[in-house]
Formats: sequence, structure tokens, C-alpha cells
Amino acid sequence: MTEPETDPPGPAQDRRPFVVLDHVNKHFGELHVLKDVDLTIGEGEVVVVIGPSGSGKSTLCRAINRLETIESGTITLDGAPLPAEGKELAQLRADVGMVFQSFNLFAHKTIRENVTLGPIKVRGLARAEADKRADELLERVGVQAQADKYPAQLSGGQQQRVAIARALAMDPKVMLFDEPTSALDPEMINEVLDVMTSLAKSGMTMIVVTHEMGFARRAADRVVFMADGQIVEQATPEEFFTKPTSDRAKDFLSKIL
Ligand code: ADP
Ligand code: MG
Repeated sequence: MTEPETDPPGPAQDRRPFVVLDHVNKHFGELHVLKDVDLTIGEGEVVVVIGPSGSGKSTLCRAINRLETIESGTITLDGAPLPAEGKELAQLRADVGMVFQSFNLFAHKTIRENVTLGPIKVRGLARAEADKRADELLERVGVQAQADKYPAQLSGGQQQRVAIARALAMDPKVMLFDEPTSALDPEMINEVLDVMTSLAKSGMTMIVVTHEMGFARRAADRVVFMADGQIVEQATPEEFFTKPTSDRAKDFLSKIL
């Protein structure tokens, strides 16, 4: 995947606030999974979210495209509060591309159809135009040769790259990745991370939940460390990996590095 490197230089605080969580709270029953979370992600910023299992990372991502509702606080995307329903909600889901651990491709559609479905249905693109764009995106993620095949005929790494192309086909404003390489065989992890790194360098605003620290060092502007529903610590990758300040982060890093 080749993309011009247009990522604006400079620290995160110089960026325009793009995704803003303000005092966000969420419970599952008795369990307080997001505890007064404040987080501002700048336009074009790449934020890697790490933390122990059960700390609320997936819930945080899902709240941003309203796959989960929140009980208090606000989330805004490009200055506007998240819509609750209807056409606006469908628009939000298109604006916030999401890639999950399980690739979730439509098994009975070809690779190209997987990529064109959303743009035709939600964005109202004509088929010829959607096909052209799909082929460009499949080329960009390196699976154009597989366009007429079905998901089961592709490797896990290829399927995940298709999932990325499918999200990009909607022209999202931000991309969320929730442990996108966790279900992959080790030899396929890098082909997916390479696509994500290239996307990061192209200036896409990205929130990436991952334990791939090499990716964080290479591509992240900021690492956010979550534990127990709270953001415990955040810093540049360099700072975070060399000088974590909290005991929770030190303990976590000692287990994964
Ligand atoms: P992470 O992604 O960091 O592992 P999650 O956001 O998935 O954490 O989960 C945070 C906590 O909320 C966990 O204890 C999890 O078991 C719980 N949880 C997540 N989703 C649900 C749900 N739909 N219903 C009840 N509990 C949930
Ligand atoms: Mg999770």
C-alpha cells in the first residue's frame, strides 16, 4: 500500500480536537466499565489504547460509534454530538470505520461485493463507481487479485485487509481498530500492521486497541493506558515504553514486553 505521507508534524496538542469524550460513564449492571473517561483525539492523530483484558477498551471503541450507549457525559465527533438513531446513526457508522478482531466479512458475498455493499446502500454510490473505488482500495491493501473470491478462500490476514478496505470504502472520518491482529496466525500479523501503519502515515485519525507494541512505537502519536475503566496514563510511545509512571502500567508492560 503506497500513500503520500501527509501526516502533519507537531505534537498532538496542536491538532484540532476531533473525537472528544467528556466525563463518559458506562455500567454493565453493577460493573462500572467506563469511569468518567475524558479523552480528546486530534484530527489526524493515531492513538494506541492498551491495557489489561476487561479494562474497558472495547467498550470505549464501541461507544464512539454508538454500538454501546453511555449513561452520562458526552462524545462528539468533529464537533457534533453522536446521533442516537435513524439516518444520522447510519451516517455515523459510515463516518466511524471499525475493524474488529473477527473479520466479520459477509460469507456469501465476493470480496468486491463486501467492499461495495456499504457505499451503494449507505452512501448511494452507483455500482460502477463503487466497483472502481473497491478495486482501488483492494489494490491499496494488496488483495486486488482476490476480488472475485469469497472470504473463506482467503487467509485470515487477507480477510482482515479486506475488512480494512471495506471500512475505508465509506470514506470514514476516523478508523477504530479493536485488536485487529489478535485472531491472526503470527505470520499474518505484519501484513495487517503494515496496512495500518501506511494508513496512519496518510493522515487518518485512528484509535487502535492493540498489544502490538512495535506498531505503537512505529505509528502511534500517543499511547493511552487503561485499567479498570479509567485512563491511568497517557504519553508518547517513547515516553510510555521507557518511563511508565504508574504501577499499573509498569506491571502491565513487564508482562507483555
Ligand atoms: P477490554 O476490551 O478492555 O477487554 P471490555 O470493554 O470488553 O474490556 O469489557 C469491560 C468489562 O465489561 C469487562 O469486565 C467485560 O466482561 C464487561 N462487559 C463487556 N461487554 C459487556 C456486556 N455486553 N454485558 C455485560 N458485561 C460486559
Ligand atoms: Mg476488548
